[in-house]
Amino acid sequence: MKISDIYKEKNKTLSFEIFPPKKDEELKNIDETLSVLCELKPDFISVTFGAGGSANCNRTIEIARKIRQDYGIEPVVHLTCLHYDKNEIDAFAKALEYEGIENILALRGDANANVPAKDVFRYSSDLISYLKEKHDFCFLGACYPECHPESEDRIQDIKNLKKKTDAGAEILLSQMCFDNDIFFKFSEGCRIAGVDAPVIPGIMPVIKASQIRRMVDMCGVAFPERFRRIIGRYEDNPEALFDAGMSYALSQVIDLIAGGAPGIHLYTMNKPQVAKRICEGLKNIYEAAGRREAC
Ligand code: FAD
Repeated sequence: MKISDIYKEKNKTLSFEIFPPKKDEELKNIDETLSVLCELKPDFISVTFGAGGSANCNRTIEIARKIRQDYGIEPVVHLTCLHYDKNEIDAFAKALEYEGIENILALRGDANANVPAKDVFRYSSDLISYLKEKHDFCFLGACYPECHPESEDRIQDIKNLKKKTDAGAEILLSQMCFDNDIFFKFSEGCRIAGVDAPVIPGIMPVIKASQIRRMVDMCGVAFPERFRRIIGRYEDNPEALFDAGMSYALSQVIDLIAGGAPGIHLYTMNKPQVAKRICEGLKNIYEAAGRREAC
């Protein structure tokens, strides 16, 4: 089923992101992760795609197939385009159709020092326009409440986002964000600019001190003072940090839903206990906020 139809039916979605394990032995354990995640009955699970043609790309399709066939949950396949030509993209699209996968998170991807970019698809909107002419997928797109790092400013970034929805992105999934005020402002900016696709916030529960440092380096996301205080106080105690990180994420989610966010996309980091804990805290929240079916 297309995610756009699921969204229309339910009004608010709850979804998870997972990544394909790099090592073969970890791939064997993916069922343990998936069985817990799928028991939580998310509306969809998105599976990331290795940047620049890494060997993990086929695993993305393999895991998406498993999610759909073995667990009956709708998968979304992330697909990057910067390092591919039309033939390669056609081959991916065919493989997805063959597996009955209907949803693509269309991405540009980032430059990779080991793999030259092919100058065929410059932006995610190029990928959407190209595939839309030939196939009947539902396209999702990425968005950045704190601005994509390559954009000159927030206004230009939102104007570019409008090109993505004009090309056919029907649902937007956001980069992780720890400050709800930033998300709400961004969401309002999207509406003013005429971006009418639902903008679903990405939530990453912080459960390890090393994870925080990596995120600062990679994405430059802002950490609100309350978050810094909580993490700073517990970072030397892994169990306490886990509790604190989960509670922060849950309070963020409750506030986002109360403020009208059209759903939550949870970065699970392949840790089902993270998703489980968040879902336990949301039992009544979604229905109270107007979701049309229990999650
Ligand atoms: P685009 O939408 O192409 O935007 C890139 C830049 O170009 C932005 O600055 C934008 O403002 C500008 N731009 C866009 N369209 C135009 C236009 N028509 N004209 C002029 N400028 C334009 N990466 C992976 O490798 N694998 C993954 O699985 C993955 N999953 C992700 C999931 C989410 C939810 C998010 C938020 C990101 C993910 N990424 C992933 C990272 C992503 O590939 C990078 O952030 C990348 O730098 C941008 O991808 P994009 O699709 O947003 O790019």
